[in-house]
Amino acid sequence: MLVGKTALVTGSTSGIGNAMAAKLAEAGANIVLHGLMDALEGEALRQEFENRYGIECLFSNADISNAAGNEQLVADALKKFGQVDILINNAGIQYTASVEDFPVAKWDSIIAINLSSAFHTTRLLVPGMQKRGWGRIINIASVHGLVASLQKAAYVAAKHGIVGLTKVVALENAEKGITVNAICPGWVDTELVAGQFQAAADRDGVSFEEGKRRVIIDKQPMPQATQPSSLGELALFLCSEAAGTMTGSSLPIDGGWTAQ
Ligand code: NAD
Repeated sequence: MLVGKTALVTGSTSGIGNAMAAKLAEAGANIVLHGLMDALEGEALRQEFENRYGIECLFSNADISNAAGNEQLVADALKKFGQVDILINNAGIQYTASVEDFPVAKWDSIIAINLSSAFHTTRLLVPGMQKRGWGRIINIASVHGLVASLQKAAYVAAKHGIVGLTKVVALENAEKGITVNAICPGWVDTELVAGQFQAAADRDGVSFEEGKRRVIIDKQPMPQATQPSSLGELALFLCSEAAGTMTGSSLPIDGGWTAQ
């Protein structure tokens, strides 16, 4: 389905990004794998993708917390593949504290990585998509792009911001064959949230699994976390021709979190 297309997935060395990259590779897309991983490990992951899926793959560990890092990532991708047809802005970090205690440096890096990076990759890659008349941009937001939680000022601000960016870029490209959508997951089983599950377990003196269940049901009617592979399936659908008129959407996959 995606043979001949190239997909760049930021933050694809682990978690959701890795699962999405795997689904797109399975469908035949060439992949730019990206994340903060050392070059040797990244090379092993790159080779694993090429061998397993029979596609071409590039690995980049550009730090995308500033404009230059994003420019480097895009330049490397274009040098290798000539074009990027599918852009998934997924890299993200988390930090929790009340707004009055929120470290300024943490605020700056969450806004840079979770929001500004998507602006940079989009501004650099959308002209090529416009020229070719086809493109898919998928921004991994969060339920926190739609509703708030305590202690997450920077994260919630960045995720609401990326939902807004999604809508603007969708409108600007509505007649150019490019769709732009945001995915808004609830709890997903990855490293990013494992620390929050462990903290609840430590606080209540219970097992990791019980801590995880308690954190999840505090927000979600469904007591289980979404699996990263399910987000891969959703991303794959958004890349299909069937999803050709879905644009500007923010799609929750959240165990009922935002239905309440
Ligand atoms: P993760 O920690 O497993 O992966 C994050 C990825 O981002 C890694 O590849 C990491 O190397 C990369 N990254 C972080 N900072 C970077 C930087 N400065 N430069 C380059 N790469 C950098 O996290 P995840 O859970 O897979 O999260 C992926 C996305 O999904 C994030 O945007 C997150 O906000 C969002 N999300 C996650 C959940 C969840 O429950 N896990 C829920 C909703 C939304």
